[in-house]
Amino acid sequence: MKAVVLEDKKIIVYKDVPTPEPDPGHLRLRIKAVSICGSDIKRYVDGHRMYHLILGHESAGIIDRVGKGVSEDYIGKHAAVIPLVPCFECEQCRRGYYSACHNYSFIGSRQSGCYAEFVEVPERNIFIVPEKLSFEHVALIEPSTVARHMLALGDFKRGETAIVLGAGSIGLMAVQWLRILGAKRIIVTDILEDNLHIASEVGAHVTINPSKVDMEKELQKLVGDGADITLEATGVPQVLEQSLSLTRPHGKIVLAGNQPLDKSLPLSFIENMMRREISLIGCFMSYSAPFPGHEWTETIDALLNGSLDMDKLISHRFPLSKAPAVFEKIGVHQLAHQKIILNPEETA
Ligand SMILES: [Zn+2]
Ligand SMILES: [Zn+2]
Repeated sequence: MKAVVLEDKKIIVYKDVPTPEPDPGHLRLRIKAVSICGSDIKRYVDGHRMYHLILGHESAGIIDRVGKGVSEDYIGKHAAVIPLVPCFECEQCRRGYYSACHNYSFIGSRQSGCYAEFVEVPERNIFIVPEKLSFEHVALIEPSTVARHMLALGDFKRGETAIVLGAGSIGLMAVQWLRILGAKRIIVTDILEDNLHIASEVGAHVTINPSKVDMEKELQKLVGDGADITLEATGVPQVLEQSLSLTRPHGKIVLAGNQPLDKSLPLSFIENMMRREISLIGCFMSYSAPFPGHEWTETIDALLNGSLDMDKLISHRFPLSKAPAVFEKIGVHQLAHQKIILNPEETA
């Protein structure tokens, strides 16, 4: 089969690889759509823990083969891949904290992923979806679940005011979940006007571009002492630092942006956090018990009732064969994008 393989830092190729056969207890999915995640771009640009790896974890397809011990009834069913492969046995798995598993794998990061014609995964890593959903929308279930998980971790309640820092794909998914779950006011910041425009279209009440106005001043006018909940989705240290003054005393900040590990924050950050008695909450992936969690089932419901708009988040579509060229462009910042969908069946 054809697949896109990360062979080294900044070396990614479209090539022939052996077609996987499902192991016992596993099944195989013919990939119909796979979306590029920011984490895939990071693996390409900054390098990854292992090489000769097929990337890709936001994907959808049709089950075409099952391994020993797996019901043939699966064949022909449409599904999304659940990328986290927890052990289901360790202390954290037993608590339902799957993303903290002592011994996990991850499809497209620690084992072969979905930038390919086929992927084979354990039975529990298949999320069956209704056939009427488009494969593109199903491929975007995973990033939606991350945003939904952020709100669950932040214990978001209907009627609260929220600030979303960063209108990339997770930020835009968060805006939609805030709208769906009944936020009183949704304020979004980003330095790119295009992103803010989409944010308005999917539910933001107010958008702010900090490269054009004094963000803290503007937000003070809007929310006084600060938002009830602030969602950090930029991964920029200065923005993280600002998030405290944007959040009301006893408010919550949920962190999902990956910060650069070679930077640090002054301890005045902790001092301010203590004085305002603010909760700083980490978010990693999107899982809860029972696996994979309500984040996944709620996303399906929201897709079926039309409240979650995936189309506005898709900026580009390419055949899978074009992936190396796409990564190259993104790597040198020559392709402004939201979600990019790759199709393994289209030929260039
Ligand atoms: Zn992702
Ligand atoms: Zn575990």
